[in-house]
Amino acid sequence: MKKLLIHACCAPCFVYIENDLRNNGLLKDDNTYEKVEYTPIFYNPNIHPKVEYERRKNAFIKFCDMKNLNGIVLDEYDLNGFAKTVVQDVGENKKYKIRCEYCYYKRLKKVFEYAKQYSYDVVSTTLTISPYQNHDIIKQVGKKLEEEFNIEFRYLDYRGHFREGQKMARELDIYMQKYCGCMFSIDSGKWVY
Ligand code: SF4
Repeated sequence: MKKLLIHACCAPCFVYIENDLRNNGLLKDDNTYEKVEYTPIFYNPNIHPKVEYERRKNAFIKFCDMKNLNGIVLDEYDLNGFAKTVVQDVGENKKYKIRCEYCYYKRLKKVFEYAKQYSYDVVSTTLTISPYQNHDIIKQVGKKLEEEFNIEFRYLDYRGHFREGQKMARELDIYMQKYCGCMFSIDSGKWVY
């Protein structure tokens, strides 16, 4: 059976996908399923401020405990590094088209590194349950990392289940955030660019 490492951007976005993984398996491109062993991983140093980061991290831990999952937390809050890179590599030298591209890359790269180290077969992310995220860029970033690490990236389009997932999270009393995560998303009042 394949081993899946799934990046959880937050607990509410993981709830529906976890339910599907548990009951059906990992969704394939042809809309059939394959059974996998799955492990969620929390790595989101983009979240600001620290108190919000801790809330989301603790919500992830709470949900993993509820579901008896050995969730992994790579505990890093990186306001300075994140902001500096956005200014330099997005604003000045245009290495990334938008800050979200850098944000996806930073998080998913770390998840791929972990997957390589611990011999996972597939990597995915819960970011793609959200209709507010840029799916094309997530797919591009995932595919680039797939080539770099020689580990499959599975793009999961769960947008049609976003509201249902949020409802399930509320019923479980899981903390729900009100903005995407970084300081720019608080300031702009938007979820993403
Ligand atoms: S809006 Fe969201 S995805 Fe975009 S940079 Fe901020 S935290 Fe990351």
